Amino acid sequence: MSHMNGYVQEASGQAKSHRERAVDCPGDESSLVKSPHSSAHMERIQHYQEELKKRREEDSRGKHDIDPNASLRLKKLSQNPKVGIDNPTFEGKEKATKDTFPQDPVAELAELLQALKWAHHCLTDAQSQQDVELIMQLLTKEDFKNAYTIYIAVSQQMTKVIPTSPLTAQAGDLCQEVQKILQSSQHKEGLELNALLTNPHLQALMQAHDSVAGQEMPEESLTQYIGETVKLVRLEKARDTPLGATVRNDMDSVLVSRVVKGGAAEKSGLLSEGDEILEINGISIRGKHVNEVHDLLQQMQGTLTFLLIPSSQIKPAPHRQTVMHVRAYFDYDPSDDPFVPCRELGLSFQKGDILHVISQDDPNWWQAYRDGDEDNQPLAGLIPGQITARTNCYQYKKTIYWYGKSFQQQRETLKKTITDRSQEHQGRLWYAKKNKRQKKKSTTTLSRNIDYDDILTYEEMSLYHQPANRKRPIGLIGPTNSGHDELRRRLLSIEPEKFAVAVPHTTRNSRIHERNGREYHFVSRPGFETDLAAGKFIESGEYEKNLYGTSTDSVRHAINSGRICLLCLHTRSLQVLRSSNLKPYVIFIAPPSQERLRSLLASDGKTPKPEELKEVIEKAREMEQNFGHFFDATIVNMDPDQAFHELRRLIDKLDTEPQWVPTSWLC
Ligand code: 5GP
Repeated sequence: MSHMNGYVQEASGQAKSHRERAVDCPGDESSLVKSPHSSAHMERIQHYQEELKKRREEDSRGKHDIDPNASLRLKKLSQNPKVGIDNPTFEGKEKATKDTFPQDPVAELAELLQALKWAHHCLTDAQSQQDVELIMQLLTKEDFKNAYTIYIAVSQQMTKVIPTSPLTAQAGDLCQEVQKILQSSQHKEGLELNALLTNPHLQALMQAHDSVAGQEMPEESLTQYIGETVKLVRLEKARDTPLGATVRNDMDSVLVSRVVKGGAAEKSGLLSEGDEILEINGISIRGKHVNEVHDLLQQMQGTLTFLLIPSSQIKPAPHRQTVMHVRAYFDYDPSDDPFVPCRELGLSFQKGDILHVISQDDPNWWQAYRDGDEDNQPLAGLIPGQITARTNCYQYKKTIYWYGKSFQQQRETLKKTITDRSQEHQGRLWYAKKNKRQKKKSTTTLSRNIDYDDILTYEEMSLYHQPANRKRPIGLIGPTNSGHDELRRRLLSIEPEKFAVAVPHTTRNSRIHERNGREYHFVSRPGFETDLAAGKFIESGEYEKNLYGTSTDSVRHAINSGRICLLCLHTRSLQVLRSSNLKPYVIFIAPPSQERLRSLLASDGKTPKPEELKEVIEKAREMEQNFGHFFDATIVNMDPDQAFHELRRLIDKLDTEPQWVPTSWLC
C-alpha cells in the first residue's frame, strides 16, 4: 500500500510540480496547471535565459535561431569527429569545387591558348608542332568554346548537389510496409508499384541504402561536456507524428517524464525517462516552463537535435512488457481526472471496452490502446493502472486489480453504479478487497452502501475461438417483454438440429406424457436443495411449492450434444455462469423506445399500461448499468425480424471470429 499512499501525497500535495506536458500533442491549455515557479525563482530563470541569449547571439553571429550550430555547446560537440554535427565532407567538397572549376571558362581557354603558343614556340620537331597547332585550332573554335562553357557550368552544378543526409535507415522496412498495403490493391498502378518493390535489385538497393544510411546517421552520441556526460540525440519528427513524450519541470530543469509507446521518441529508443533536456536544435531549454517547451516543439519538424544529460537513475526492470488485454469495468474520462499526469495523453474509455495495455512500467499509469483504435491512433494513451494485488491465474484462476486511493473521484462514480449486485458478488474476486478488516466491514454494511474499496476495475482478457464441436452457450438477457424469450423460441423452432435448451430440474411429479430427462429432470426436494447449496444451478425458482432450476450440468450436456445451448438468463445467473467453465456468450436484448415497445406489444395482443412500459425501459437501463460489462453484445429490439437476423449474425460470428473472454476461463 505504500506506493498507493505515496501517490495520494503526490496527487494532493505536489501534483503541480509533477504535472507533465506532452511535448507536442495539441491539448487544452486551460486545463494545464500554472507554472510552478515563484516570482524570485522566475527572475533567476529570466536572468539565466538572458545570459544564454547573449551568449548565443555572440556565438551565432547572425545564424538562424534554430541552426544546430548556433549553440556554443553544440558547436563544441560538433567539432568532435565522433559526433559530427557539421558536415566536413560537404565543406571539403565546396572547397574542392572552387579549386577545380574555373570561374570564367573563356578566360581559362585564352590562358590555355597562350600556354600552347608558348609550347609551340619551344617545340622543335614538326610533328609535335603540328599536334599543338591542331589543338590551338580546336580551342579557338566558337563551338568548342560554347561546349566547354556548358561543360563547366554543368560540372559545377553537379558537384554542388550535396548528398542530403538520409531521412531514414529503414527504407527496407518502409518498402515492406508499402508492399503489405499494396497486397490487396487491384489498381494498375498499385500492381506495378508492387512489382517494382518486390524486384530483387530494388530490394538489394534498399538494403545497401539502409546500411550506408545507418552509418551516416549517428543518432545518438555520448560525449563529455564541462565534466558532464551529455547525450546528443537526433530524431526525425514528421508533421503528423507526435514525438510521444512528456516533460516536467524540476526546478529550472526540463526532464523527460514519460516516453509513450508508438511515438517517434519511443521508436528511436534514444530518449529516456529522467533525461534532462539542455537544448533542442540549439535552443536552450533549461529554465523554460514545460508549456513553452511544448509550444516550441509543436512548431518544429524534421530533424530535431536534442542535447541531453542522461538520466542518472538506474532504470527499474520493466514491470511487464508483454501486451495485456483487459476489459474495463468502469468509465474513464481523463478530462475529468485531476490526477492524470498528462491530460492530452489520457485515454478515455467506457465500461466494457477492451484495452490493450502495452506498458505497465509506471504502475500508476499504464499505456494502452482501445481495441480497434490501434491502427488510427499511433500513440498509446494513459489509463489508470495501479495493480496492488494480482493473484496468479494458475493458482486461483482469478485476476484482481485495484484502484489506488487517488482515484477517489472515479470511485464516487462507481459507487453509484454498484448497488444491489455488490451483495451477490461479495466474496468473489470481481471486486478488489483492501484488506481483511475492511472486507469484514464492507460485508456488514453492504446492503446499499458499498465500501469504496470494493471496486471493480479491469479483468484480463484473451481471445478465444470456439471449437466446432463445443459451441459456446448463448445467454439471452433482458427485462420481461424485451423479446428475448421470443427470440430464443424462434431459433429453436427454425433450427432444432442446431440449437438446444438445457433440460431443467424440478421437484414436482412428472405428468403422464413427460419423460425424465426430456421435459425435466425430476428430482426430490432434498436432492434439489443439496445441489442448489453446492452451487450446481445457474438459476432456480419456486412455483406452486415446487422448485425449478437449470443446472450447469444440463447446459454442459446440451453443449456436448454438438448443438448451441440457448439460455434465457436472469442477472442472478450471470455470475454463476461466468464462474463455471461454460464460456457463455451473453447478448443483451434491449427494448426500443416506449412508443415502439407499445406498438410491438400491441401487435402481440398485449396492452400494457404506460407505467409498465416505463418500467421495462427503466429495468433495461438498470441492467445495463449494473451488468453491462458482462454483456458481449447488445441488440436493441426495434423490429423482431431485424433483431432475429442480428442475433443470427452474432451467433454465426462465433464460428468465424475469435472473441475476447476472461483469461481466467482459459487457465
Ligand atoms: P410446469 O410445471 O407447468 O412445467 O412449469 C411451471 C413453471 O415453472 C413455469 O412458469 C415455468 O416457466 C417454470 N419453469 C420451468 N422450468 C424452469 C426452470 O428451469 N427455472 C425456473 N426458474 N422456472 C422454470
